Amino acid sequence: MVNNLAGRRAVVTGGTRGIGAAIVRKLSEAGATVLTTARSANATDLPPGVLFTTADVTDPDSVRRLADEATRRLGGVDILVNNAGGGAARPGGYSDIDDKTWQDILETNLLGAVRLDRALVPAMVERGSGVVVHISSSSAHVPVGALLHYSAAKGALSTYSKGLAEEVAAKGVRVNRVSPGMTETPAVAGVIADIAAATGGSRDDARATLVESIGGIPIGRTGTPDDIANLVAFLVSDEASWITGADYVIDGGMLKAS
Ligand code: NDP
Repeated sequence: MVNNLAGRRAVVTGGTRGIGAAIVRKLSEAGATVLTTARSANATDLPPGVLFTTADVTDPDSVRRLADEATRRLGGVDILVNNAGGGAARPGGYSDIDDKTWQDILETNLLGAVRLDRALVPAMVERGSGVVVHISSSSAHVPVGALLHYSAAKGALSTYSKGLAEEVAAKGVRVNRVSPGMTETPAVAGVIADIAAATGGSRDDARATLVESIGGIPIGRTGTPDDIANLVAFLVSDEASWITGADYVIDGGMLKAS
């Protein structure tokens, strides 16, 4: 069986919707025992057998509790997917992004993952095995104007992820990052709905406007959460055992070489 994860114990942050929910489902289908987390306790739609606990990755105490609970309930953690993240577009230029906005975006997209890694990776290193995936963004590679703070936070996450990979590679722990382009999750569907409401056009027209605003997607469609989850399921499996420190841009060919 490809991507066989039988017996593996996984933590996925932000697994109640969008990309995280697809990752939870794929890992669970591949045989892993999965514990996932989000700020709101709307975990009723999780696949059978998936464990849930409430946590906010921007709160250091909450992250510590999550790590303790995951270790206790799963008996150890083999796979960690730092997926929770995101950020709203800010109209205006760089000088309109205030300190609070910068701090919030860094907490959500960088420091949450750093703290959870710090809590869970040492046991992987001690055991001599483990896999970490950081969900970054194609905008870490080419900044998006209205999302400059988000792009910069994901850029920092990517650099940190590469450094962590180098530090723990010889200890049997692999660390990779996945950088999605525009993927149609509830977060992006909300943006499309806002454009449709503002222009009075259809959702398809609104989607086309949004895709055009980022320069187009050569493959001709936005991504689905499953597109991203399939790659993550491969990266955490033994089939990817020689892959570490890598960054996979998965965006339908959107990113132009720079
Ligand atoms: P969604 O907003 O659809 O889902 C985000 C998930 O994370 C939810 O389960 C949410 O639950 C949880 N979450 C958000 N903030 C926190 C927090 N502070 N602590 C714990 N959980 C949290 O996002 P997407 O699926 O679109 O995005 C998932 C990841 O992919 C993010 O890191 C995002 O930056 C990245 N990405 C997405 C792209 C896209 O086009 N969709 C493109 C590039 C990257 P709750 O709100 O209840 O906490």
